[in-house]
Amino acid sequence: MSNTITEAAVLNKTEKGLLIGGRFRAAAAGRTFAVENPATGTTLCEVADGSAEDALDALGAASAAQSSWAATPPRERAEILRRAYQLLTERTEEIALLITLEMGKSLAESRAEVAYGAEFFRWFSEEAVRIRGDWTVNPGGSGRIVLMRQPVGPCLLITPWNVPLAMPTRKIGPAIAAGCTMILKPAEQTPLTALMLAGILAEAGLPDGVLNVVTTSSPGPVTEPLIHDERLRKLSFTGSTEVGRILIASSADKVLRTSMELGGNGPFIVCADADIDAAVDGAMIAKMRNIGQACIAANRFYLHADVAEEFTDKLTDRMSGMAVGSGVDEGVEVGPLIDAGQRDKVAALVDDAVRRGAHIRTGGKAASGPGYFYPPTVLTDVPSSSRLAREEIFGPVAPISTFTDEQEMLRAANDTESGLVSYVYTRDLDRAIRLAENLETGMVGINQGLVSNPAAPFGGMKQSGLGREGGSVGIDEYLEVKYVAVGVA
Ligand code: ADP
Repeated sequence: MSNTITEAAVLNKTEKGLLIGGRFRAAAAGRTFAVENPATGTTLCEVADGSAEDALDALGAASAAQSSWAATPPRERAEILRRAYQLLTERTEEIALLITLEMGKSLAESRAEVAYGAEFFRWFSEEAVRIRGDWTVNPGGSGRIVLMRQPVGPCLLITPWNVPLAMPTRKIGPAIAAGCTMILKPAEQTPLTALMLAGILAEAGLPDGVLNVVTTSSPGPVTEPLIHDERLRKLSFTGSTEVGRILIASSADKVLRTSMELGGNGPFIVCADADIDAAVDGAMIAKMRNIGQACIAANRFYLHADVAEEFTDKLTDRMSGMAVGSGVDEGVEVGPLIDAGQRDKVAALVDDAVRRGAHIRTGGKAASGPGYFYPPTVLTDVPSSSRLAREEIFGPVAPISTFTDEQEMLRAANDTESGLVSYVYTRDLDRAIRLAENLETGMVGINQGLVSNPAAPFGGMKQSGLGREGGSVGIDEYLEVKYVAVGVA
């Protein structure tokens, strides 16, 4: 791919309408909303502002396409995904530029997201042809227990702004593989990447109505009627725990199946025997990927007192040396936060910790001027009473506390409503296994700062969610198990 693709060209070729029944069109009421570049605070373009009426049209299209799509041979569904994987990979540069423009992360990070996001299509193209049933002789011998797995039906997929390509592909991939139709409702901050992705899937041969996209500036009122509509059979949501709770409550009405990938509050634990350089490398990934705006970001650092100073010095060095700026500029490592609200929240969390006695080692003050920048920040002596220890930061801030007793540290690490991910650095195998078994999180990184992998099940315990995405279980979220009791004379 040439690197001469310009901002104007990529914006120009991206669809701006709703995708309903295979056609991109304006919102019924003719309304649009602005998409902003967080590095400058300026408007990139306008996209269709869908209403509840548009969303119900999309559900009508998904519902009409469901039975023929479910009957489409698995190999055909697999090949559509495989072609889309290929197209995404070939167009890495233009998709990465679009991600950076509307979300803010650096081009290098956006390219990595395209590779990660595309991989869900390759993975689920391989799963589409391996949807298995089961056949068992009834223990009494008088019959057969036959199991089949069928597509659950039309799905509503609601995705966040922080990973605007891969959060949609992580849901669309298994839904296509399973034979489900769907309505994608991308985040209002990042609708453009979703629209470009929809265009690529159409080009890859996805039939009309299988994927519908409704962009909107009012997510609650637009999705609520769908959740109460009997034609919808599944809701898959990635976003905040707060919105997840609202959606779970609404889903009770029609006993809608839900998958929820919600907030995290990941501990990053460095034991006395850890390889400190490796731990710092891992911390840079776990903390700074996506400018800290990730549910799997390291949110609280627990350092053994014996290694705390060395780790903190090295981390501070690396964090303070990072290049901050507009993500489109080559060499920039840390882009802006998504909006003024997020920047102000991060600033308030840091100020609260400092008031309670935390010390700033680097950063700690929001930049002024255009764009929503916050510098990489390291804080030590962060008390457990501070908001930073309880709330998801979603920013480039590393709050550090120290420990000497492993059991006390474990209690503190688990003392949160969240249970998504934890990270442990140690060279002691017994300790690694002990901590992995006792940390109350759906994922644990041992000597590794990155757990995301399309071939592994991603998801959380406690209030971090329900269900898993990716891996060999990811497709189950989109399948119903049907049991057929066969009498044998
Ligand atoms: P974040 O804090 O990361 O922005 P949100 O949970 O607010 O996370 O948003 C994640 C997704 O949920 C976005 O697509 C957003 O538009 C959508 N969303 C927000 N509020 C609601 C709601 N009340 N009902 C349905 N979707 C919502």
